[in-house]
Amino acid sequence: MNLYTKTLPPNLTRLLQDRERMLRTLISNLKGMVYCCLLDADWTMIYVSDGCLSLTGYKPEDLLFNHVISYENLTFAEDREWVRKVIEDAAYSSRHYDLEYQITHANGEIRWVHESGLPLFNEDQELVALEGFIQDITQRKRSEQLARDAEARYRSIFENAIEGIYQTSPAGQYLDFNPALARIYGYESIQDLSNSVSDIQCQIYVDPGKRAEYMAIMESRGQVQNFEAQVYKKNGDIIWITENAREVRDSDGQLLFYEGTVEDISERKYYQEQIEYQATHDSLTGLLNRTMLADRLEQSMHFADRHQHIVAIAFLDLDHFKLINDSMGHQIGDGILMIIAERLSECVRDSDSIVRLGGDEFVLLLTCLAKIEDITHTMRRILAAVSLPCMVDDLEFLVSCSIGISVYPDDGRDVNTLLKHADSAMYKAKQSGRNNFQLYTQELNQALTERIEIEYRLRNAIDNEEFLLHFQPKISLVTGKICGAEALIRWQPSEGPLISPLSFIPVAEETGQIEFIGRWVLINACRAASQIKALLGRPLSVAVNVSPRQFRHCDLVSTVERIILDTQVDPAYLELEITESSLVHDTPAFIKTLHDLKALGVTLAIDDFGTGYSSMAYLKDFPVDRLKIDMAFVSNLENEPANVAILKAIIALGHSLDLKVVAEGVETAYQQAFLHGIGCDEMQGYYFSKPLPLAEFLKLLQN
Ligand code: C2E
Ligand code: CA
Ligand code: CA
Repeated sequence: MNLYTKTLPPNLTRLLQDRERMLRTLISNLKGMVYCCLLDADWTMIYVSDGCLSLTGYKPEDLLFNHVISYENLTFAEDREWVRKVIEDAAYSSRHYDLEYQITHANGEIRWVHESGLPLFNEDQELVALEGFIQDITQRKRSEQLARDAEARYRSIFENAIEGIYQTSPAGQYLDFNPALARIYGYESIQDLSNSVSDIQCQIYVDPGKRAEYMAIMESRGQVQNFEAQVYKKNGDIIWITENAREVRDSDGQLLFYEGTVEDISERKYYQEQIEYQATHDSLTGLLNRTMLADRLEQSMHFADRHQHIVAIAFLDLDHFKLINDSMGHQIGDGILMIIAERLSECVRDSDSIVRLGGDEFVLLLTCLAKIEDITHTMRRILAAVSLPCMVDDLEFLVSCSIGISVYPDDGRDVNTLLKHADSAMYKAKQSGRNNFQLYTQELNQALTERIEIEYRLRNAIDNEEFLLHFQPKISLVTGKICGAEALIRWQPSEGPLISPLSFIPVAEETGQIEFIGRWVLINACRAASQIKALLGRPLSVAVNVSPRQFRHCDLVSTVERIILDTQVDPAYLELEITESSLVHDTPAFIKTLHDLKALGVTLAIDDFGTGYSSMAYLKDFPVDRLKIDMAFVSNLENEPANVAILKAIIALGHSLDLKVVAEGVETAYQQAFLHGIGCDEMQGYYFSKPLPLAEFLKLLQN
């Protein structure tokens, strides 16, 4: 220290000596070593403070003047060169230096030190020494290293994890995520994902509502666990993922972001679905299996209750299938079952279910049915589909089936009852010669059977000339004479009794056969009109009933026109009776047809008037000539006083519109007299005559 002190006055020298002592105390207590050294090859120390011992493990006198060891030697071998360069560069350019490097402690340990210092110059500005301070920073270095190691370890976990790891903002953007996340979502790189996705809710989740669900769970629990969702991959593929995540908040409790993991569970989901599918489906046909029957039926019943529908439970059993199976082998049998299953699926709607109970037994649940009749169409389709030839292994097989049907809620209100009833109906179908279906309900079954039979037999009725017309006279109340006749169809099948039009006309309407029948009636009524004219020497009006379907579906106008031409009948003497119920449909088209018919010169009557629910206001728009009061108002005139008022009102209405009013179903003298009294124009009924075969009617006319 006294290297460069000059001779000073004693008082100042003392002061300085005091300061020197104070500095020495300070320096010797510093944690670290104050030094002064030469810039030689050994960094020869010419001064070191007491801190030398703890820093290097050597006593100051061991280091001073390289007595035992030089500082160059203490410096960690690998650091020596660069340390020297840094210090010399600073010193020769008169700069302060500051650096960290390692030294070897006397006990052999390598220690990190921090050194700072500056060059010292003499009066001639020659660099003479270095002065500085060296501190042990091993502890700090070690913790820094630990932190770096830890960071690196976590980074490595983050970077190399198989699971996707992310941080997202509450607004739905990615703050950070790992390569696995990008990979799971099908992006080429982290960069690719962060460039492409700016809105997790809409771009990641298939159901955008999922993000809101995620946030809601976060809000209430602070975390989500096993949150499963479907997400889009970059290429649009959909995968299943599961997420586990938590909120991260700052010390003030402010939400910073969500942090979580993503796992691709598509494969697991796929296997789960496979397992579920196998548990609920028949492996041969892919139809539902027995385990699903009760479940589906219950669902259908609930649905039917809510929507006022009925459910049909159809028990289907292939006829003589065991025979095929036993004689041809199971492979053929299986082939047939697969074909049948496919055909059944084609016959029903998506909302219906088909269950294979096992063997050759199936159950069909037909839902969304409004009425029993709807069932029969499907059943007929099924019978037809099943009985088509089945090709298996280049062999052709013909199979048929028997079906038993029960209906919910009519035939039972629980699964077991309904199945039992369908089953017993199926046995009835087997007994009735197979290849047919039977309804459990006796009466319905009866009615439907008859209907089916009528439809079947009607097919040949025209060709076999089984139809005939009867004629019922209409009496004018002014003249008391026959003023016309209504042609009424009769069906006399080659075997069995006469069949009423009330039984077969509705069936013919439904099947469309009415179009042929209607044409037949028109032609034959016109021919009869010609015979009547020839007999009487003057024409007599003949009325023909036209059913609603004829009105709507066929080209009625041109048919009538053609027939008028063909039969040479005077159209003024042909009357068409249209029931009020036809009016309910499609009024503008209806009115046009009426006008077109009217233009042909025929007269028009509204039949069964008073029973329809259409407003009477329409009447004035219709070019009609007659109202035929429904017989219901006439037949119980005696016991139903209210009918008196109705009859009077209808007659008044008809007359106000310039229409003739006809009463039908007149059976008694009382009715006749009463109707006469209130101004009815014409009458028809058993009181005068029943409908008669043409020959008898002609005889009646002659009298
Ligand atoms: P509708 O047009 O109202 O015919 C009158 C029905 O009442 C006829 O029955 C007739 O026999 C019956 N009748 C006549 N006088 C009396 C009576 O005093 N008392 C009672 N109780 N009944 C009487 P029918 O012939 O069985 O015809 C029934 C319905 O079938 C007809 O009712 C009509 O709607 C329809 N229909 C008949 N023939 C044809 C036809 O050729 N074509 C079409 N589309 N429908 C027809
Ligand atoms: Ca009629
Ligand atoms: Ca009528």
